[in-house]
Amino acid sequence: SRKPIVGGNWKCNPAKLADAKALVEAWKEKGFDKEKVDVVIAPTALHLGHVKTPLEGLGMAVCAQNVGKNDMGAFTGEWTAAHLQDMEVGYTLIGHSERRSKYGETDEDTALKVEKCQEAGLKANLVEETLPEQTVIFCIGELLEERESGKTDEVNKRQLAAIIPKVKNWDLIVIAYEPVWAIGTGKVATPDQAEETQAAIRAYLPLGRRAGGGRARAWYGGSVTPENCKELITKPNIDGFLVGATAKSRKPGDGRTD
Ligand code: 13P
Repeated sequence: SRKPIVGGNWKCNPAKLADAKALVEAWKEKGFDKEKVDVVIAPTALHLGHVKTPLEGLGMAVCAQNVGKNDMGAFTGEWTAAHLQDMEVGYTLIGHSERRSKYGETDEDTALKVEKCQEAGLKANLVEETLPEQTVIFCIGELLEERESGKTDEVNKRQLAAIIPKVKNWDLIVIAYEPVWAIGTGKVATPDQAEETQAAIRAYLPLGRRAGGGRARAWYGGSVTPENCKELITKPNIDGFLVGATAKSRKPGDGRTD
């Protein structure tokens, strides 16, 4: 069966590196069994290099929040899958809804990014076994009006269809279903809604990756809390969560800052 995977997306937070380090420090008390679950943390690009070693010391992996669609060169503000690999950052988010809706990222952009990560992963396998494979956490999800007009599956399939021709190794893809209406809003998809949608998404994957044994893992993101995650994880097609907790969705006592 698939190993559970959970993640924290820090988005454009916190303001200070000292706070990022303090958060990692606070986790020392918690502990978890890394044989049982993969934990992946996505700090800002500037903080990533600083918190990588302490996070890894806790058994967690670091993840970039984005990656460029081009190769090295005159692309101000970008970094590449090859950079991630050289820095030994083995995960990246691609196609987060905030990238899609706030920065105009298209399905084609996400496909190129996935292609670059797959190429880098392939190289890691072939050339230098010490380099990390590039696992992509590929985010898809519908807007509220799309859900309300019955287009949920159509939208998720369209977003997934863009990358299918680019994927050579589905082991290096985690499908993150993050309905836009549930991100940072405090409105969580019901476990049944999340399960139903992930099951439809999984059914759309190329044959061989559909069955429970397929390693293409699928998680849910959007207003996940310590309370609602308990039922969500019981669902057969949900292998984990991505938690953001923006200021808007964070409520005193909801445990989301833990
Ligand atoms: P929230 O947990 O704040 O809803 O954010 C989810 C998210 O965007 C994960 O990437």
